[in-house]
Amino acid sequence: MKFVPDRMRKSLRREKPRLFRLIAFSAIVVFLPTLASADSEGRKTLGVPGVRGGVVTTSEPAAAKAGAEILRRGGNAIDAASAVAFALNVVEPQSSGIGGGGFMMIHLADEKETFVIDSRETTPAAGAPDMFLDSNGAPFGFSIRSTSGIGVGVPGMVRGIELAQENWGELSFAEILRPAIELAEKGFRVSSRLEDSITGAIAPGGRLANEPGDAAYEVARAVFAPGGEGLEQNDLLVQPDLARTLKVLAEGGPDAFYEGPIADAIVAAQLNGRTTGVPAADRPLLQGRMTLADLAGYGAAVRDPVEGDYRGFRIVSMPPPSSGGLTVIYILKALERFPIGDAEAGFGFGATRTLNVMLEAMRLAFADRAVWMGDDDFVEVPSRGLISDGYIAARSALIDPDSRLDEVLADDPRPFDSASLPPKVQLAATRENPDEGLNTTHFTIVDRDGNIVTYTNTIESGWGTGLMVPGWGFLLNNELTDFNRVPAFNPDPDNFNPGANDAAPGKRPRSSMSPTMVFKGRRPVAAYGSPGGSTIINSVVNTTLNLVDHGKTVQEAIDAPRISQTSANGSPTFEAGFDPEVIEALNDLGHNLSDSRLRVIGSVQAVVIDRDKTQFGGADRRRIGAVISLERSGSGDDDDDD
Ligand code: GLU
Repeated sequence: MKFVPDRMRKSLRREKPRLFRLIAFSAIVVFLPTLASADSEGRKTLGVPGVRGGVVTTSEPAAAKAGAEILRRGGNAIDAASAVAFALNVVEPQSSGIGGGGFMMIHLADEKETFVIDSRETTPAAGAPDMFLDSNGAPFGFSIRSTSGIGVGVPGMVRGIELAQENWGELSFAEILRPAIELAEKGFRVSSRLEDSITGAIAPGGRLANEPGDAAYEVARAVFAPGGEGLEQNDLLVQPDLARTLKVLAEGGPDAFYEGPIADAIVAAQLNGRTTGVPAADRPLLQGRMTLADLAGYGAAVRDPVEGDYRGFRIVSMPPPSSGGLTVIYILKALERFPIGDAEAGFGFGATRTLNVMLEAMRLAFADRAVWMGDDDFVEVPSRGLISDGYIAARSALIDPDSRLDEVLADDPRPFDSASLPPKVQLAATRENPDEGLNTTHFTIVDRDGNIVTYTNTIESGWGTGLMVPGWGFLLNNELTDFNRVPAFNPDPDNFNPGANDAAPGKRPRSSMSPTMVFKGRRPVAAYGSPGGSTIINSVVNTTLNLVDHGKTVQEAIDAPRISQTSANGSPTFEAGFDPEVIEALNDLGHNLSDSRLRVIGSVQAVVIDRDKTQFGGADRRRIGAVISLERSGSGDDDDDD
């Protein structure tokens, strides 16, 4: 793990703060409609013009406003992203927040440096590879362990934002908390999406469902379903406990989260777990193992991204502990030899050959992901080998545009790497983790100076564990369920498995989150990412192909239907909108694209930047995406900086 290297601290730290710069902005606000409820939300449709004063694009309009407010007040993209992350905890509490963690990719325009703040949750010191097994040695079911303290990782978001703010922000920690405090204290109108999410959570079997004896979930129910009735669209949601927490942070700084009464309450809350359907003898095994020392010892890290070339662009994405960047780059490089954008060659958007090679490349990449990727502070991940030209050429050679591989296996990238793992004899098949959450949030911000943040943040499942910290109003993550639920490590040379994603004390669970930037030379041309569990990787791939190969505008690239496969030999998922004849042709090849595989995949928030520095934002209608574009106007702007 790397904390801020001295080189970065010295060279990248920016002067603080130039009070409020005299910037006159006029805002172009476009709240994109959801597919289902455009009119009832009263939002306008597309047509976001390019600007040069900054763009904030989020999956939630009120959070976009918070980010834009910070940009208007002289904050940079790092400040705005921090404010958005806190605001999302208030207005999209089911997806991310201070009880969780994420990856904030930052590009600094002046320094031309790109790096990631890793605030991924860690395993408590008392964690172990077998921590998800019951007293018979069988894994607890996902619905049990993901709603119990055993699933809670040590939260990282607050330390991550502290690290970003202290080093590269312009405003104070208290200032970036202000919009979130106001939203929590004065309240906001519940969105259609939040209403839907609450309805699902309180339904039988839902994360906040009222099972007899599961009193720990009443804290969150009381906020989102007061009196047992779920809040509905346009209801005013005031969150005094969360407001108090955010104020304590504004006054006491990030340490007030990791030590003192909030930390005490976190440790107490994660001792809870589901009791319904769990034998009394097993209940203690579901208690979280986090201690005050784990919280006090949490550290966010600065990481160098992984990089790969694709058709003359440099793809810069999330390194381990995420599998995201390596898998995105792997898939793109495996596809590069095919003329993806060329309809005359039988490819082009949505063509059978295009979708077939996409699925085949995903299958190959996910086979290797399952074996080799994990937290490389703990295991040797052959990162270089996995995306090396030689290894990818060998893997891509397996793809035939006109047929489907019967069976896809992982291979061994180590000969293309310097990692010194024991030599492979036979790779054990590793089960994909089918349990990764499908929630989370992604937002992207560019400021007037060209600094960019693209940030995926999560509490894992929708509503995390469902455990809200009593008196403090925030939900605890269930991120540790991203680990292998049954340890996979096997030293037997005949059945070797590195156990790359087995739990261990202090280790971060493997993620799929893939905040990504695209460069032409040293010039950033796009930044984006998505929520969606392991489908995140494929949403980023789909978006990249749409931009690079299919020449779509940023909004078209987001709107276009997506296809995804997240395992070597399972079935794909796909969105409505592809030609039914193409789907039939893919099924003839052996893919299983039945109607039961239709899904909504991801929620991409993106920014594209032209050569002349014009900034275009796009947001995803699959949620309630919002773009706020700031046009600089007047003559007094920015004279101290250019
Ligand atoms: N736990 C997931 C991951 O890190 C969060 C992403 C999601 O579920 O959307 O990959």
